[in-house]
Amino acid sequence: MIKVDHISKYFGPLKALNDVSLELHKGEIVVLIGPSGSGKSTLIRAINGLEKPEEGKIYIEDQLYDPKNKKYAAQRMKMGFVFQHFNLFPNKTVLENLTLAQIRVLKRSEVTASEIAMKYLKRVGLDDKASQYPNKLSGGQKQRVAIARSLCMNPEIMLFDEPTSALDPEMVEEVLEVMQDLGKEGMTMIIVTHEMGFARTVADRVIFLENGSIVEENTAEAFFDHPASDRAKLFLSKVM
Ligand code: ATP
Ligand code: MG
Repeated sequence: MIKVDHISKYFGPLKALNDVSLELHKGEIVVLIGPSGSGKSTLIRAINGLEKPEEGKIYIEDQLYDPKNKKYAAQRMKMGFVFQHFNLFPNKTVLENLTLAQIRVLKRSEVTASEIAMKYLKRVGLDDKASQYPNKLSGGQKQRVAIARSLCMNPEIMLFDEPTSALDPEMVEEVLEVMQDLGKEGMTMIIVTHEMGFARTVADRVIFLENGSIVEENTAEAFFDHPASDRAKLFLSKVM
């Protein structure tokens, strides 16, 4: 579904991504792990089109992913992106947060958009919060709303960049559960997380980055049980 082909990304003199390649197949869950500053966000943002790599290419379903390409907008629509901070519109209700882009971008009627919104709110266990404003929700609830909002756009791939790292510890589990359920239903996902237990449980593959390079790529089991590189060993010894 996604092919990242030898991309490099510079911020001035800093090479934030260094010749990174990966492939993501339909239904696969890949977790990106690595120390702070290793390029995880830059990589996932490049896949979403928020960063433009200077070198290399990205393909979505075998087609070049490039803003100059007329398929670009449609390709980009296939991806939902959930960040650390929920970015809900504070002056709109939960329901309005979920219907806005459906109506504006997908041109759905308000009735249809609301039905779809309620379906996904139910799925993340928050259908009773539809008429609330975001500031009345807990962090975990806000993040579940953000996930539901993404799902309303019918993404084929979900990208998550540390969706739980801004949450109080007791809220983490409810968000991870929603993500795990999505995975079970066959959603294709790339997840940046520091939740190693979760990564081990849900990941089909783990990609370990350091200094902008992929140092190690393996099944979750192999990565956590027998990390091959010294750098991954050291990293895991600090975080596990
Ligand atoms: P963290 O775990 O802290 O989120 P990360 O692995 O996501 O880290 P990135 O955010 O991808 O790391 O950053 C990779 C490198 O690129 C870092 O050295 C960072 O300082 C740098 N960087 C990222 N974004 C920018 C930017 N917009 N301008 C300049 N440098 C940047
Ligand atoms: Mg990051």
